[in-house]
Amino acid sequence: MRTTVTTSDGVELSVRVRGPEQAPTLVCVHGYPDNARLWDGVLAEWPDGWRVITYDVRGAGSSDRPRDRDAYHLDRLAEDLREVVDAVSPGRPVHLLGHDWGSIQAWHALEGPWLDGRVASFTSISGPSLAHAFRWLRAGWLRPRSAAAVSSQLVRSSYIGFFRTPVLPELAWRTGVATALVRRREPAEPAPVTADAVAGLDLYRANMRGGQARDRARPRPVTVPVQVLAPRADPFVGVPLQTELESWVPNLRVRRIPGSHWVVRADPARVASAAAEFAAYVEGAAETRALKRARRGTLRVGRFDGRLVVVTGGANGIGRATALAFAREGADLVLADIDASALAETARAVRDAGVTVVTHHVDVADAGAMERFVEEVVRDCGVPDVVVNNAGIGLAGRVLDTTEDEWRRLVDVNFWGVLHGCRLFAPHMVERGEGGHLVNVASMAAYLPNPMLPAYSTVKAAVLMLSESLRAELAATDVGVSAVCPGFVDTGIVGATRFAGTDESEQERRRQRAQRFYTARKARPELVARDVLRAVEEDLPVVTPTVEAKAARLAARWTPGLVRAALRRR
Ligand code: NAD
Repeated sequence: MRTTVTTSDGVELSVRVRGPEQAPTLVCVHGYPDNARLWDGVLAEWPDGWRVITYDVRGAGSSDRPRDRDAYHLDRLAEDLREVVDAVSPGRPVHLLGHDWGSIQAWHALEGPWLDGRVASFTSISGPSLAHAFRWLRAGWLRPRSAAAVSSQLVRSSYIGFFRTPVLPELAWRTGVATALVRRREPAEPAPVTADAVAGLDLYRANMRGGQARDRARPRPVTVPVQVLAPRADPFVGVPLQTELESWVPNLRVRRIPGSHWVVRADPARVASAAAEFAAYVEGAAETRALKRARRGTLRVGRFDGRLVVVTGGANGIGRATALAFAREGADLVLADIDASALAETARAVRDAGVTVVTHHVDVADAGAMERFVEEVVRDCGVPDVVVNNAGIGLAGRVLDTTEDEWRRLVDVNFWGVLHGCRLFAPHMVERGEGGHLVNVASMAAYLPNPMLPAYSTVKAAVLMLSESLRAELAATDVGVSAVCPGFVDTGIVGATRFAGTDESEQERRRQRAQRFYTARKARPELVARDVLRAVEEDLPVVTPTVEAKAARLAARWTPGLVRAALRRR
């Protein structure tokens, strides 16, 4: 149904209403240089049981186009939004969905007096509050860590200077040059309409004047629940500017999504599903894993709230410590191992942390079993956020004493086990599009050529190289890859180590000697677990838990000749 809302300054806004009157209401506010048709794809994907409102903002589509530049001031646009909300949902707060300038005006209305008590939730896409943007840019210069993000944002925003010049931007639109540029970036329909683009230039001219920065230096906190959907490849509004809002939006969720500035046109199904999921939650539905994962600031209880973490070899040692560390930070766990009794015991300990845990008895070396395992995890629990490929065994002894079977088992568990985990889980993470992280447990042995653990070192070197290469391959997808290279850690690995070329009694003697050394070294698996969490949080390519692992990495890099000489067997 089409209707008209006449604003208090006499402008007629063209409004489209869809859905039953009593249903919860969504109001969509489009940006520049679009009109309400921007939302056509999202409307087609929006679930039933909602009332959805779209309207042409002043200057766009079938709404009036006032000639006076001041008629496009944000205060006026905020007033329009309130008048539309009052007209379509007088008795019940609405959910807002804004893109670009539509999002900017929604932020402005929420910061001021316009929408007090009238909004249940707000999903913002590629449109920051201008008050916040000014503050973010100013504060960013003073913090060395954010100076690069601020500089990058200033380059992204440089087109604004052009839009504020007289005549030229009108010429760019009327000659079709600007439309061609927009279409090249986003060919999906509907294309911008020249008349909308020309009238909307006054948004820039009325709201981005120098003196206004001072007025906007102190944005008012926005207290309604907010979800930011930040397209990773937006060339105009960088992810940090859109998402670094914790100090000012206490009830904040952030989701990085694939796509560019006009993700609403290019991927309406993703936008509809994420926005509807959030609005439904605010209306009383259960909080989904995606929403828990998106929590920021004060909403966050643990560092990994609601994430799903898979740990192979999770029953003992480093895997167990890693599972417990993630659980204490709010993650749900999937543990895979061949040691059934230890698996059950670790699962109990994880459950005590108050999170959910699922166990799978699976040999990581078995390709078929790993395929079934990954399928079941994705089907029953969802796409994991973190996969720690940790299961491993030891093998010591000379290359010339190591049998083919011993080599094969080592490669099958320590290399193929990791590779299965990467190549089976990563496609799901990439397809989901909201990031993820693979952690591969290698070893300090990966970069130390040595005669004690030659087979083990060779295979761990392959794990390290696989991790580095896959990291480069997945860089554009927001799926990170880290290699963890510990030194000597006191776990049960020595008991699971073969000493090639020795009989059973010699095996036992060497195991006991090695165990005494590992125990005396006193490095706990919790030390490695801490670095695994850090590697995920900070997206680090390689971490080296333990002092000897750090020293060995430096030595291998800077004095390889000395390392070779020291480790040569006489
Ligand atoms: P651990 O023996 O205590 O734990 C390894 C776990 O992996 C066990 O629960 C075991 O049952 C499981 N596992 C072994 N083979 C498996 C298979 N085929 N399928 C599924 N699960 C299997 O050893 P850890 O020290 O905790 O070792 C964990 C990882 O850390 C290994 O990859 C190891 O190579 C690496 N690492 C250990 C040290 C160390 O000093 N402990 C140093 C560097 C790297």
